[in-house]
Amino acid sequence: MDFNDTPEEAAFRAEARAFVEQYATREDIRPPQEPERRDDYLARAKRWQKLKQEHGWTCLNWPTEYGGRGATPMQRVIWGQEESRYDVPTQPFAIGLGMCGPTLMAYATEEQKRHYLPRMASGEDIWCQLFSEPAGGSDLANLHTRAEKDGDDWVVNGQKIWTSGAHYSDYGILVTRTDPTVPKHQGLTFFFLDMKSPGIDIRPIKQISGASNFNEVFFADVRIPDAQRLGAVGDGWKVSITTLMNERLAVGDAHGADVQDLLKLAQSIDIDGEPAIRDKAVRVKLADWYCQAAGLKYTKARVMSALSRGETPGPENSITKIVSAAKLQDIGSFGLDLMDMGGILTDADQAPFNGMFHHAYMTGPGIRIAGGTDEILRNIIAERVLGLPQDIRVDKDVPFNEVPQGNP
Ligand SMILES: Cc1cc2nc3c(=O)[nH]c(=O)nc-3n(C[C@H](O)[C@H](O)[C@H](O)COP(=O)(O)OP(=O)(O)OC[C@H]3O[C@@H](n4cnc5c(N)ncnc54)[C@H](O)[C@@H]3O)c2cc1C
Repeated sequence: MDFNDTPEEAAFRAEARAFVEQYATREDIRPPQEPERRDDYLARAKRWQKLKQEHGWTCLNWPTEYGGRGATPMQRVIWGQEESRYDVPTQPFAIGLGMCGPTLMAYATEEQKRHYLPRMASGEDIWCQLFSEPAGGSDLANLHTRAEKDGDDWVVNGQKIWTSGAHYSDYGILVTRTDPTVPKHQGLTFFFLDMKSPGIDIRPIKQISGASNFNEVFFADVRIPDAQRLGAVGDGWKVSITTLMNERLAVGDAHGADVQDLLKLAQSIDIDGEPAIRDKAVRVKLADWYCQAAGLKYTKARVMSALSRGETPGPENSITKIVSAAKLQDIGSFGLDLMDMGGILTDADQAPFNGMFHHAYMTGPGIRIAGGTDEILRNIIAERVLGLPQDIRVDKDVPFNEVPQGNP
């Protein structure tokens, strides 16, 4: 493991830092909980994305002809580190740039890539990921949404759920079942589609935080041209794996309230007339999270060293999300407890520390589910890192329409 930038990396970091320091604000622009503030947030996000694109700071490792900069994976990581020092509004583009773009890059035609990717990179178009269904989440291949060929089109019927940003997206990537007579992984086909297509009904899901970040999406005879198929008919699982591999890299670790923030909180709050930082129970908790933060730092350094050597990080990257998302949730919960009555304030304008502990408490659980639940990531680590026996998969080789289905 080498913790230092090479001279080239250091020069690149200085260039990235200079741009962010000049243009990003320290203003807190986390995604709002209130739906009525969403349009304002989206407009700011689009402005930031366009500005970055004009200066060559979007999609760094994409080829220049698709709106990128042709940079190395390591340079992309360095840029991410510098940008994340600010609360800049990047969330609406995360799925498009992190997952849809790389999938199009691997499977779309040259003409499609030259049309859609630069628009995605500049933030002009927002994309969403239509994968999960009521019966197909962790077990994605158990999805039921059907696509049937009709002339040059496919006709789609069914339902997706938890589709982040569908309500403001222009396009989406979609995986469907086209052949139910073969085992579940074999009968799938992958498309991209215009989210304004007739027959799409998007219903936002109201979350406990008050926000509506994701949706149910219903398809009633939605027509998709065959030209918008990505990969061969029946190869949808293979294409989905490309998306999921990129999702694992894009999701990375959970950002938000960390041990340093908790330390400041504990210094500023009293318990029984003494600063909370002197309380032994508080100190034990802080020490625990400090150790976890240090472990994460060195695990990430290992990934960075691999990238720097031109290697692809392996499944051990899953460790980062498991540890950081649980830590975020726990730190949020402990911070709210420490604040006593202050912990019930939810508005970032009024709550102590800009509501960062509240935000951590509310978003932590979702991060533990999205992009692979804690349990699924543990399975991956068990099977692919530790070499333990595989999870039991009884329906793997059975035709999909012969697998008994419960009530989805
Ligand atoms: C914030 C957020 C954003 C999301 N955005 C999107 C999106 O944009 N597009 C999209 O398609 N989906 C999205 N999702 C959905 C997400 O991918 C699924 O929620 C996730 O894959 C889990 O599926 P599920 O909810 O159906 O739970 P299930 O798969 O039903 O799991 C239920 C429980 O069983 C456990 N479990 C399941 N299988 C196993 C196993 N083999 N071994 C051990 N335990 C197991 C799980 O860990 C979990 O605790 C989002 C979810 C969240 C929380």
